[in-house]
Amino acid sequence: MHRPQPDAQRWSLRVDPPWSLEAWREAAREALLRDVAPAQLDWLEGGEASLLDAPGVQQAPRPADASVPSVPRDFLELAATCLCHREPQRLALLYRLLWRIAHGERSVLSNPADADVLRATALAHAVRRDTHKMKAFVRFREVPGQADAFIAWFEPDHNIVERVAPFFARRFTGMRWAILTPGCSVHWDGQALAFGPGGRREDAPAEDARESLWQTYYANIFNPARLNTRMMLQEMPARYWRNLPEAQLLPGLVRDAADRVQEMHDRPAQAPQRKIPQRPAAGVVEDGPGSLEALRRQAAGCRQCPLWEPATQVVFGQGPANARVMVMGEQPGDTEDLCGRPFAGPAGQLLDRALAELGIDRATLYLTNAVKHFHHERRGKVRLHKRPESRHVHACRPWLVGEIARVRPPVIVCLGATAATALFGSGFNLLRDRGRWHVLEDGTRGYATVHPAWVLRQKDETRREEAYRLFRDDLRQVLAADSVPAGHGPALPPISGG
Ligand code: SF4
Repeated sequence: MHRPQPDAQRWSLRVDPPWSLEAWREAAREALLRDVAPAQLDWLEGGEASLLDAPGVQQAPRPADASVPSVPRDFLELAATCLCHREPQRLALLYRLLWRIAHGERSVLSNPADADVLRATALAHAVRRDTHKMKAFVRFREVPGQADAFIAWFEPDHNIVERVAPFFARRFTGMRWAILTPGCSVHWDGQALAFGPGGRREDAPAEDARESLWQTYYANIFNPARLNTRMMLQEMPARYWRNLPEAQLLPGLVRDAADRVQEMHDRPAQAPQRKIPQRPAAGVVEDGPGSLEALRRQAAGCRQCPLWEPATQVVFGQGPANARVMVMGEQPGDTEDLCGRPFAGPAGQLLDRALAELGIDRATLYLTNAVKHFHHERRGKVRLHKRPESRHVHACRPWLVGEIARVRPPVIVCLGATAATALFGSGFNLLRDRGRWHVLEDGTRGYATVHPAWVLRQKDETRREEAYRLFRDDLRQVLAADSVPAGHGPALPPISGG
């Protein structure tokens, strides 16, 4: 099949756009069909001119029996990734590999010591790393004066915008956004992706109202005892910092880390100041003429499950006794346990942010948790959150029922799976049933969405921002409660003291 051609004869091949697998495949196919060896080809990118003035490979003679063999899927995947690299030799490198595969070396990719394979693998690795960085470090900023329109500025090392854009379209389907890079821009209008020429950094908003919130959050979660500057720089190279709102804090946090660690060492272990009365509770009042305050006082002495013992105090619901909306979480966290108020920690701050953006006054809501004591595990000086077990939820249910019976809110919003199953029963599936209304037996309208702590647990900014939008959009539906559809959802399980 292989018919050697004189080395002196050179041909040119153009790939446009040069990162497109389709374009490269089409060009490589033309060369293979004409049996043109790798050494005879000048690969041209985009509108580049051939220095050697080589004629196009389409002018080379094509044998009548020419055909192109199939190639392994692994090779196509490798080629698609490598093509995004800016290395000029990648087009020739991939054709050399293709040529070898077509001429009897079908398993060349399985030899990691092969020089061509080694080089192609290194290029693909660099592209994958750049892709990861773009997913992690793109920061959208709201366009001033345009609701739900965002622009981000990013400077990738390689031609990865088309490769990464579908990821952002999936993550941020419901908003209009654009990502500007020096070489290319991409725009999503909620329906389709459109690519255009590169942009400038000054075309993207410098900052928006969210910056300070993320800075506050980042400063709160920054643990100086776990600081590893080398790893941090490896994972978050300094050149990305100027696009990251939290990066402005890093020099100060790093500078003060040693002092803060020393201070943590010197500080005596924090002993919770027990506020639980020693007198056991006389019993749980499920309903009746008693006020919310009376119920709160009774709950302070509850011993219905073991969670009371290591906790600082009961964290009862808070808000107006005639609130129209009750928001229910899982259980108090470390901050709430210490201060005695629900939704006072980082998750509560995120809830506050969403409420502020939706124009809801937190003071009008009744905020509570399915479980009233902090379930945790102590590791040294740190208290780690533990999810409450169903027996805890069951034991604590009378307090929740008492709150519902006294506040009688027309709408109850459950944040997270624990709260949702406490209200709707164990058959409730948050993934399946979140974001829609359920009418309970007594006519109360129930609604479930994710817990803000889940939003904060997302591992990078992109995922956090997407999760936050989901959370906020769900809450927005609660605001439009007047549009609740008629009909009955799952019945509220019987409420009784336990
Ligand atoms: S968690 Fe609930 S049931 Fe358990 S002790 Fe505390 S208030 Fe009582």
